[in-house]
This record gives sequence, C-alpha cells and structure tokens, in this order.
Amino acid sequence: MHEEILKREHKAEKQRKEEMRYDQMDCLLLAGEEKTERTIPVCETVFPEKFADLNAVREVLLTPEKQVYALIAPAFMGQFGEGVSPGAIRAALKRAGFSGMVEVAVFADILTLKEALEFDRHVNRDTDFLLTSCCCPVWVSMIRNIYGELVPYMPGAVSPMIAAGRAVKKMHPDAVTVFIGPCLAKKKEAKEPDICDAIDVVLTFQETAMLFEAMGIAPQQMEEDASEHSSGAGRIYARTGGVSEAVVRTVEQLHPGRKIAVRPMQADGGKACKQMIEAIQEGKTEANFFEGMGCVGGCVGGPRALLPREEGSAYVDHYGKEALYQTPLENPYVIELLEKLGFSTVEDFLEKSDLLTRHF
Ligand code: SF4
Repeated sequence: MHEEILKREHKAEKQRKEEMRYDQMDCLLLAGEEKTERTIPVCETVFPEKFADLNAVREVLLTPEKQVYALIAPAFMGQFGEGVSPGAIRAALKRAGFSGMVEVAVFADILTLKEALEFDRHVNRDTDFLLTSCCCPVWVSMIRNIYGELVPYMPGAVSPMIAAGRAVKKMHPDAVTVFIGPCLAKKKEAKEPDICDAIDVVLTFQETAMLFEAMGIAPQQMEEDASEHSSGAGRIYARTGGVSEAVVRTVEQLHPGRKIAVRPMQADGGKACKQMIEAIQEGKTEANFFEGMGCVGGCVGGPRALLPREEGSAYVDHYGKEALYQTPLENPYVIELLEKLGFSTVEDFLEKSDLLTRHF
C-alpha cells in the first residue's frame, strides 16, 4: 500500500515536471522580442528564477566585447537531432553568439591519462584498488559525504568539465565559460568553493535546445564547422563503463603486460553504486578499479538529456569508434595541449597541477 502511494506520487511529480517544462518552453518562446541573430527571446516575468542560467547566458551573448565559450559534454552526440554533427552544433552555437565550442571529451582524455598514471602509481599489489574520481559529482559526493573511509582510494582530480573551464580561462583569461550537458548536478558542482573558478554558467541540453528554438536556429540546417580533437577514450565517458574502458586501454598502452592489470567494475544509479561500495567494504569483489555514475546508463541517462539513454549511448559509441585516435597517448592534440598548459613531465601532471588536482 505504502509502495503504491509512493509510485503514484512519483508519477504525479514526473507529470508535473514535464508540464512545467512545456510551460517554460512556451513561455520562453511566447515572450519573444524581435528576433535577430543575437537576440534571445526570454521570459522575465513568469518564471524568472527558472531561467536564471538562460538569462545569464543571454546577457553575455548580447555583450559584444565578451568572449563566450561553450564547453559541451561528451554525451552531446545525437542530442540535437538525427545526423547533426559536432561541426553543425559548433556552427549553431556560433550563430547564437558563442565565440567557440570546446568538446569536453578532450579533457576527459586528459583526465583518463591522469587516472591511468594514478593507477600505475597506486595499484601494485593484488589487494590495492582505486575509485575513479573524476566525472560524476553525484558519485564523488556520495564517497565524500557517506563513505569517507574510501576517500584515500580516490585520487584528487577535478572533473573534465572543471579542467576544460580552467584551460579555457588560462588561455583566454576574460572568457566566459558555459558548460552544456544533460546534468543538473553539474550546476551545483560548478559552484563548489574550491573549483568555482572554472565554469560561469551551466546549461542543460534542454535549455540549450530552448535557446536554439527561441533564436530560430536549427542545428540540422547548419553548415559544418568541424574541429574535433578528442580520442575514442574521452568520447565514451558519457556512458556507463566508458571511464573504465578508457583507463584500461590507456594503462595497457602505458605498460603492456603489466603484472596487475586493471580489473574494472562499474555501477550506475544510486542503488547500484551503494551495492558496489558495500561489495568493496565486505571484500566481495576482485575488481581493483571502481567507476560510479549517478544516473542509470551514465550521462546519456542524465535528467536533462533529450534522447532516450539507449539511443544516446549508441550515438556515443559510434562517435567513439569514429575517432582517429583511441587513447590520449596516441592523440597528438592532447599531448600538444598538455604542453601548452605547462605540463612537461609526469610529475608536473600528477602533483603540481592547480588545473587538474583537487583535495578531497
Ligand atoms: S551520471 Fe548523471 S549525475 Fe553523473 S555527471 Fe552524468 S548526468 Fe550528471
């Protein structure tokens, strides 16, 4: 009986949220100003607090002297329409007034390399293990707030979103950084005191689609503005198992035939993450690398994705296979970027990096 009531409440809440989403979209579209390429219709009267992030982006896009960069999450493939390429999304964002689009997958590549080096350093006996720390704020919060005894097994690293924001700001100190992804938790992560220097605004895919729609921009009709640099490893971060696969491949390349290989285990969704942690605590797993994702399916199952997670996952896998390079070690752009960011040795990369390191 109690379960029945909970189910009904959940369904009603879901429906209420869905209705609100459409209300918001109508409101955004109806409250339109005269449309020009740099004018974004916006609702300032009906749901102002719901549009705080869209309004913030609108304001900077309307300020011609501002450089505004879109940092797009690895889950973006397929989200803005069938067959819409990364180049077309870049063109659409530039039409909206952004100065450029950076694929956060490139920074997932860089964090993969860091995680692989951390594994190499810390896992040398059969009983050693590591938790991945980098990409999901829900997983990271769970470990920090509920399972503090496991924090020493989670090397301090920022997420690819934070690394991307910091890198853009290092190269363009006055730039405004806007992260675009399927996640609501990223809005909170961007405001955490020790990392709040990286990202100015977080927009969801849904908010970005509303922005395009309100400005009359159709990504599927845009000309190609191609400039992809990520490798397969960074591209598959967006779905469950992607981080583990990326680290397995990279560790194998770093040390072929390493005595202790990466034995990954993944969990997605809160319940499964909790079960995986209990398995670690009770010594009921042989794995030595644990990846947790807050959403079922990983980021492709994020709360503000535009596609069903299976479709999103298929797009992500396809894009991963299309990459010219499969790991960050093979990718000359990643190596060049690391040099540009001031990393010349492995020690710099692991220890002295204000850009990538975080203290939990
Ligand atoms: S798995 Fe979900 S909560 Fe975690 S980063 Fe991805 S979208 Fe956000």
